[in-house]
Amino acid sequence: MRILIDMDEVMADAIARFLEWYQRDFGITYTEEQLHGTKLQYIVPEAHRPTVRQYAHQRGFFANLPLIANSQEVIRALNDKHEVYIASAAMEFKYSLEEKHDWLDEYFPFIHWKRRIFCGDKSVLKGDVLIDDHAFNLSVFSGRAIMFSATHNMLETGYERLNNWQEARQLFDLDTP
Ligand SMILES: [Mg+2]
Repeated sequence: MRILIDMDEVMADAIARFLEWYQRDFGITYTEEQLHGTKLQYIVPEAHRPTVRQYAHQRGFFANLPLIANSQEVIRALNDKHEVYIASAAMEFKYSLEEKHDWLDEYFPFIHWKRRIFCGDKSVLKGDVLIDDHAFNLSVFSGRAIMFSATHNMLETGYERLNNWQEARQLFDLDTP
């Protein structure tokens, strides 16, 4: 089975970096609870929005992002059983390519470079399963589309869900040899 896995909000916690940089620049701390069903750029004062929208376009934004809980061990187990590809729409953020590549080298060295897809429009992807946090990626996928829960997508309905990586153990039958 070919399983395609998104990076941000699925493997790497980019929301944590948004909150960290916003706190650094404006001295205001938002919590993940305040982001339920939305994104930081939509809840900050309007004058701060252009700054927040630029964050992911800056060098360093994707460097050393925290891991999503249990992603390493479960993706390793998935990779042992299936054909796992990492698929990230990295082209949107030109400085992210090197940082994402380095990040995978550090935390997911078992994912060979041939299994890393840094792309634009994800509708070109072909596989059996796509695990992603955005409906706009899942809706154009021809295989089984699984929404990985993230603060911004909690109000989305209509997709099969993975609420966390522990749930994937059962979904993909990883505990049976
Ligand atoms: Mg994502």
